[in-house]
Amino acid sequence: MSDRPASDRVRVRRQPTRGRYELADVYEVLDRSRFAHVAFVHEEQPFCVPMLQARIDARVYVHGSSASRALRALAEGIPACLTVTTLHGLVLARSAFEHSANYESAMVLGSFRRVDDESERLAAFEAFTNKLIPGRWDEVRPPNAKELKATSILGMEIAEASVKARTGPPSDDDSADADEIATWAGVVPFEASFGAAVPSPGLRPGIDLAESVRLLLDSESA
Ligand SMILES: Cc1cc2nc3c(=O)[nH]c(=O)nc-3n(C[C@H](O)[C@H](O)[C@H](O)COP(=O)(O)OP(=O)(O)OC[C@H]3O[C@@H](n4cnc5c(N)ncnc54)[C@H](O)[C@@H]3O)c2cc1C
Repeated sequence: MSDRPASDRVRVRRQPTRGRYELADVYEVLDRSRFAHVAFVHEEQPFCVPMLQARIDARVYVHGSSASRALRALAEGIPACLTVTTLHGLVLARSAFEHSANYESAMVLGSFRRVDDESERLAAFEAFTNKLIPGRWDEVRPPNAKELKATSILGMEIAEASVKARTGPPSDDDSADADEIATWAGVVPFEASFGAAVPSPGLRPGIDLAESVRLLLDSESA
């Protein structure tokens, strides 16, 4: 993929300067978001299901119970759309019309295929675990044969994709509204953060906080 859309379907039409098509940009936006919404049509009904997602190279993975209706439908290779979105800030203008949001999102079109190869399945499992919290895979028991059997892992090639992002102040700084209206305008940044870790009620006494959690919380406060 280049700086041009891979197809007309993924060409950003409104505010085209906010669109990007480089694979590296798509990867970055996918990697910064822990979950996605996966849309598909099943028995003529559109669904849009929130799911965790993880990327390895040029493939994005979703997983879940082998009994899940969504995963079973997607495994058939039907057309699908995976979207991630991160809100960065509220954009407050003088007029209601110019209000907006700073954000980044990525959209990948394609179809999923079931992953049967055991090493790819394990690699995806590891990617999901470390996506939730980096370093966690090395701290936990890996999935056993029964757990692997109960889990469906699907992968989609990232070939037809776009990124759209908005940054910056409201668009009416140079307008008559900015001269005439005495209403505060600007950006209120939005920052998601993790709070203090709460031990599980069943956690045996004397077990220290996991290194992965300590590093995550340290990185938040840095
Ligand atoms: C942040 C997040 C991450 C998730 N990660 C995963 C994941 O990695 N893997 C996974 O399998 N599931 C995940 N889920 C749950 C997922 O959204 C579905 O609930 C789940 O896949 C159940 O699918 P199903 O095929 O059994 O449900 P379906 O049989 O498809 O659902 C039947 C009906 O239940 C309702 N429903 C199902 N899910 C939701 C929902 N999330 N919110 C509201 N109504 C719903 C809808 O009305 C739907 O038509 C996640 C949810 C969230 C919010």
